[in-house]
Amino acid sequence: MVLILDGKEVAKEVRASLVPRVAKFKETYGRAPHLSVVIVGDDKASHVYVKNKKIACEKIGMTSTIHTLPAETTQSELNQILSKLNNDNGVDGILVQFPLPKHLSADEVLKLVSAEKDADGLTYESLGYFFAGKPLVSPCTPAGVMEILKHYRIPVEGKRAVVVGRSNIVGKPMALLLTEANATVTLCHSKTSNMSELTKQADLVVVAAGKARLLGKEDFKKDAIVIDVGMHGSGQGGKLCGDVRFEELDGWAKAATPVPGGVGPMTIAMLLKNTCQLAEQRARDPQF
Ligand code: NAP
Repeated sequence: MVLILDGKEVAKEVRASLVPRVAKFKETYGRAPHLSVVIVGDDKASHVYVKNKKIACEKIGMTSTIHTLPAETTQSELNQILSKLNNDNGVDGILVQFPLPKHLSADEVLKLVSAEKDADGLTYESLGYFFAGKPLVSPCTPAGVMEILKHYRIPVEGKRAVVVGRSNIVGKPMALLLTEANATVTLCHSKTSNMSELTKQADLVVVAAGKARLLGKEDFKKDAIVIDVGMHGSGQGGKLCGDVRFEELDGWAKAATPVPGGVGPMTIAMLLKNTCQLAEQRARDPQF
């Protein structure tokens, strides 16, 4: 039997651990940590994600504001709002919901949001600190994967790990976090030849290729740990599925994350954790 790594459960635990931190922050500073979310345009899925983030904040006692901007917002209007949030002392975390309408530049956003308020951990300044080994916070999704590994006491040190995918959001930061946890990491991407030979040697494989059901039993060694970051609404029968053919892992992998219910729930939990951490850091050291 494959051990199912239950991200919903781990996320619940992370959120519960934040409740006393938020209460203590409130008691000390007279206000709750605050997340400001900026959303531009009418993308339905993005509006649902943003609403879920607001609800998640409220559930642990944090406050949040959603800045809903019309699709025709100009870059300079967006930049002005972000600068205002950067300078607003009552805002601890800023998150700009992607994707943006085509005429707006994600690049500009990633350059503009202050690292000390970057709740996603994805701005260029923030990633600079992160890759220099001095993170203010870690990018949410890979940090969520590490939290799952920690929760299930899955040893990482000395293990061979393969990360499939090299995006700034998941693959690259994932490889760094595993390296810092003393795994020996191979990073694969779409130009990797004979990828299966590499994944088959790994004790731990994190798959973030964004290709539905790309990998299956034949790509993993017996008793491997398989973490599936992929998320697709296009599985069999239109069901949500990941980058891994999960049903093939039973009796083969030692442990694996399902989709849904694996890495997905961790991302919002880590966003809350990051916001709380940024609030505490800035309150302790206003120069930070
Ligand atoms: P991305 O920016 O599209 O990056 C995908 C990466 O996978 C690229 O580096 C690409 O290589 C590589 N790749 C593509 N096809 C491949 C193949 N056949 N073999 C090996 N590598 C391949 O995607 P992302 O933002 O990292 O997201 C990856 C997946 O995770 C998506 O399904 C996304 O929806 C999901 N996701 C989930 C969460 C969550 O909360 N669970 C959060 C973020 C993302 P090249 O660099 O060579 O193009």
